[in-house]
Amino acid sequence: MIMEFLKPHVADKNHGDEDNHEMSRRLMVEEIRAMAREAGGYTPRPISEKVLSIMAKVPRHRFVPQEESSCAYYNHPLPIGHGQTISQPYIVALMTELLVLGKEDSVLEVGTGSGYQAAVLAEMAGKVYSMEIVEPLAARAANLLGELGYANVQVKFGDGNRGWPEHAPFDGIIVTAAADHVPQPLLDQLKPGGRMVIPVGSWPYVQELILITKTRDGMLHQENVLPVSFVPLTGGH
Ligand code: SAH
Repeated sequence: MIMEFLKPHVADKNHGDEDNHEMSRRLMVEEIRAMAREAGGYTPRPISEKVLSIMAKVPRHRFVPQEESSCAYYNHPLPIGHGQTISQPYIVALMTELLVLGKEDSVLEVGTGSGYQAAVLAEMAGKVYSMEIVEPLAARAANLLGELGYANVQVKFGDGNRGWPEHAPFDGIIVTAAADHVPQPLLDQLKPGGRMVIPVGSWPYVQELILITKTRDGMLHQENVLPVSFVPLTGGH
């Protein structure tokens, strides 16, 4: 009897780790929820339960270096090597929310980094095309996303300033590095009715997260969302 009772407590180690991560993820989601409430009056949309449930599901600890995994669910950015960072969870949630994606939609991400944002997008959209200019990061993210079963994500090593014309136009475009201007090819590759989120401003200063909407008749509208700080968008030559 006693042995039976004890069994669940001597569950295998990995399972125990996963329980801990699940708890940390739930706390992270509560922090995002609180931040979203505070920012509520300033941002164009509140963060939906749908996006929060995705944040509660994607294993962020798998996307950060092992030595950072105990901090994976803190609501701040973390280094991922090659001088790059994985964005703060709140910003990942907000940028995802602003794209308003559905299962029929295709989305282009510029700046794969760890692949975490791509995984979050893959839970919302039909297809995710993600570009990364640092080859080892692109390779690592592609492997990990495959291992985790994200079959609807394609990662490509290359300069995202040019977009990915073979798969354009996109319902959504997300740029996760700071640009000093919005690259014209990305505007061209946005579908009428589509949305783009991009941090714009000079690095290393604070940039502004911008939401661009292309109307059905091809007009562009721009809305400032909030001040942010991203690593720079390179390439473009
Ligand atoms: N979205 C990532 C974090 C991005 S950090 C994540 O979830 O982890 C920004 C990334 O943009 C870096 O990996 C950087 O190498 C990449 N980057 C910078 N300029 C780029 C460009 N022109 N094309 C593609 N990727 C670029």
